[in-house]
Amino acid sequence: MKSDAVVVGAGLSGLVAALRLAEGGLKTTLVAQGVGSTHLSPASIDVLGYTPELVESPAGALPAFRTEHPEHPYACLSLELIEESVAWFRERTEILGYTGSLEENLLVPTAAGVPAPTAIVPASMAAGDLRSGGHFAFVGLRAMKSFHPAYLAENLVQAKLPSGAAVEARAVLVSDPGVEPDVGALDYARAFEDPAFRRAVASELKVHLQPGESVGFPAVLGLDRHAEVRRELEDALERPVFEVPGLPPSVPGIRLFRALRAAFRRAGGRWVMGAMVVGASTSDGSVTSLSVRAAASRTSAYEGRWFVLATGGFASGALHLDSYGEVRETVFGLPVWGVPPVEEPRFLPGVFDDHPMAKAGLAVDERLRPLGPDGAAAFDNLFAAGAVLAGAEPWRERSGNGLALATGFAAASHILEDAS
Ligand SMILES: Cc1cc2nc3c(=O)[nH]c(=O)nc-3n(C[C@H](O)[C@H](O)[C@H](O)COP(=O)(O)OP(=O)(O)OC[C@H]3O[C@@H](n4cnc5c(N)ncnc54)[C@H](O)[C@@H]3O)c2cc1C
Repeated sequence: MKSDAVVVGAGLSGLVAALRLAEGGLKTTLVAQGVGSTHLSPASIDVLGYTPELVESPAGALPAFRTEHPEHPYACLSLELIEESVAWFRERTEILGYTGSLEENLLVPTAAGVPAPTAIVPASMAAGDLRSGGHFAFVGLRAMKSFHPAYLAENLVQAKLPSGAAVEARAVLVSDPGVEPDVGALDYARAFEDPAFRRAVASELKVHLQPGESVGFPAVLGLDRHAEVRRELEDALERPVFEVPGLPPSVPGIRLFRALRAAFRRAGGRWVMGAMVVGASTSDGSVTSLSVRAAASRTSAYEGRWFVLATGGFASGALHLDSYGEVRETVFGLPVWGVPPVEEPRFLPGVFDDHPMAKAGLAVDERLRPLGPDGAAAFDNLFAAGAVLAGAEPWRERSGNGLALATGFAAASHILEDAS
């Protein structure tokens, strides 16, 4: 099987790299074992939220952040390129109506009632922007046990906003006509696509709303027809309606995944899902092919001129920590940077602590090519993007999707330069 470019991974970084390469005229194959963290994480593009201080303007904070963190993947990217990646992304996901910019972070509520800084959000989350305060009613769907609007509202009213504006928030419960107990986010997303269901929810809700309140729903307002679902709810309730992302699965993330996959296919890309890359062949400092094993089939070789490793971190199997405490990169066996010695602590008790292991990953050169043991690019035609890269702490920085977007875009840009 021959392509110009082969991208490994179907998370945000792989989807972005593959789409950009296919649009750039390269015969591109995306191969992935499974879906990535799009299906788990909110679809907001968090470029830089904390340094650790709250970041109000990513564009304002990034230059100093890059200088202070030369090992960070953002240090390989210019501000112009990050801005270009955001503009490109907004155009490719027009159907989801992304809004925002690098100039000013929005503050959108998490399901725990924390105002979270983020650069751009899908249209479905935009009316939840808290920067100027406001009055909000958060809707509880009685059969949805993973979303707690009273807890959310209680925390949100205590939050201190940089603007000093006040948030008034409360919970409203509706009984979900026709939905069985304990259904999940995807069941609700499908239920909201039924006009009768959403009309029934809106009519029950409307009588409980107060003047001036915007309405926050858990992020389950439809999958393929979400724009219609939200528009009809806004019309029926006569006020802005928005979604609050919650526990996985992430319905907004699935919409994003589908939008990018559809764009990739339209651009002529070849999509191979359910196939694991288990090794590679190399010659004279270049990767020549990947060994790909699909379920119940033999291993086959995927040849290419350029390769992008967008395999994620520990959670997706890109990095493996064995019982001897050794960490390895699982496809190429590349050196993993930032791993503390076995005898030193690697993880700390608190979730958001400064875990010594948190920055582990692949070190890269300025063109995002992973470094080999000698500190030079391991292969001239292998690029890396997203959570597999060393030096970032996406959870603490709130930078995960921003990094995935910008590095996926940048890796593809370097390849397109080489190809031209
Ligand atoms: C629950 C959760 C919540 C999050 N919340 C936020 C948030 O609020 N804000 C934020 O900015 N970020 C958040 N993130 C982080 C963010 O989603 C990720 O950092 C980012 O999307 C990483 O994308 P990626 O493409 O690099 O990797 P991933 O999304 O992990 O994708 C990796 C891909 O590689 C594939 N793969 C791995 N190994 C192989 C192999 N050998 N062969 C073939 N395929 C392989 C996987 O199947 C998958 O398709 C969250 C992540 C999670 C899990």
